Amino acid sequence: AGQPLLPGIDALQLQVNKTASPKQLPAPGAPLLFGRTFTDHMLKIRWTEQAGWEAPQIEPYGTINLVPSAVVIHYAQSAFEGMKAYKRADGNVTMFRPDMNMKRLNNSAARLALPTFDGEQVIELLKQLIRLDKEWVPEAPGHSLYIRPTLIGTNGTLGVQPPTEALLFVICSPVGPYYPTGFKPVPLYGTTEYIRAAPGGTGAYKLAVNYAPGVVAQKAAASAGYQQNLWLHGPEHYITEVGTMNAFIVFHDADGGLELVTPPLDGMILPGVTRDSVLALARGHAAGARIEGMPVGKKVRVSERPVTMEEVSEASTSGRLVELFGTGTAAVITPVEKIGYQGSDVLIPTGPGGMGPISGPIWKHLTGIQNGLIEHEWNVVV
Ligand code: PMP
Repeated sequence: AGQPLLPGIDALQLQVNKTASPKQLPAPGAPLLFGRTFTDHMLKIRWTEQAGWEAPQIEPYGTINLVPSAVVIHYAQSAFEGMKAYKRADGNVTMFRPDMNMKRLNNSAARLALPTFDGEQVIELLKQLIRLDKEWVPEAPGHSLYIRPTLIGTNGTLGVQPPTEALLFVICSPVGPYYPTGFKPVPLYGTTEYIRAAPGGTGAYKLAVNYAPGVVAQKAAASAGYQQNLWLHGPEHYITEVGTMNAFIVFHDADGGLELVTPPLDGMILPGVTRDSVLALARGHAAGARIEGMPVGKKVRVSERPVTMEEVSEASTSGRLVELFGTGTAAVITPVEKIGYQGSDVLIPTGPGGMGPISGPIWKHLTGIQNGLIEHEWNVVV
């Protein structure tokens, strides 16, 4: 006989324990360093193999108790998400495409044999958490509430096996604009000493295990005078990702148009929500839904295809290269000015204000949607 159906996450069972000592809100206008300040409350949902998902709890932000034998500490059973909520001029708060983050967290969970869950129930719980901490969603332009759902294996055993107990928790952090003084194109170091992902590995999932080994590569890039590292793959040095962002490259097309390229989701690329949004907007523009500022009368072709460093390097020399940028929730779009590669710098054109002919208009449109200036079904009202 099959297993009895265990309880899933049920938002209606939420229990709320409000803080008796609310923290001081950050002063308006004070700089908010990324991920240092946390709101008053957190969401916690426990899971056990025997009883399934327990009643969700909202509690004061605080420490988590773990036994020292907890599997997450030894074998890194940890998956997480990064998403944002924005306060609009009308006072409403919206989350940006939370369904995408819930889908990705479920895919990540499955990759680690952690329990999966009903994403819609968690979105409902996120709404309740954010409503409770609504004062913490900053209003200033470019500010937002960064939301960090995390799922870890908590049972205490040193055997490497599927977790029998887990905790899904969510903490929130008010954040300022990533580039407070406007866009500053960054120099990248084309990393050939380390890899982030490999075929059959875990690069396509948002797992803690993908990030810890990247720190030394980032440090090496920084000490060589570059801001981030560019992850390359294979002897061909395929461009994969920019630090913790997806990579986009724009080329002049043979027919006088432009080609916007990003590497395909081949199992080594994190399927970024921003990546998907940029592709959707660019494809929409190509299909006639005009984006203000995008080249008109010039075709913008959108491709998901592999790009080698050799292609970028040749395009840089020949003038075929238009721009190169990273995309991610934290900074939305980050233009790149050069890539340190095998002893010399490959120069990348950058436009006025640091933005290029595609990245500029797309950034404006996408942040317009996120801030509620442009209505879009991607926004979910809290
Ligand atoms: N690649 C990596 C490795 C990342 O960590 C992130 C950030 N989540 C991204 C790409 C961008 O993804 P998203 O647009 O969903 O933030």
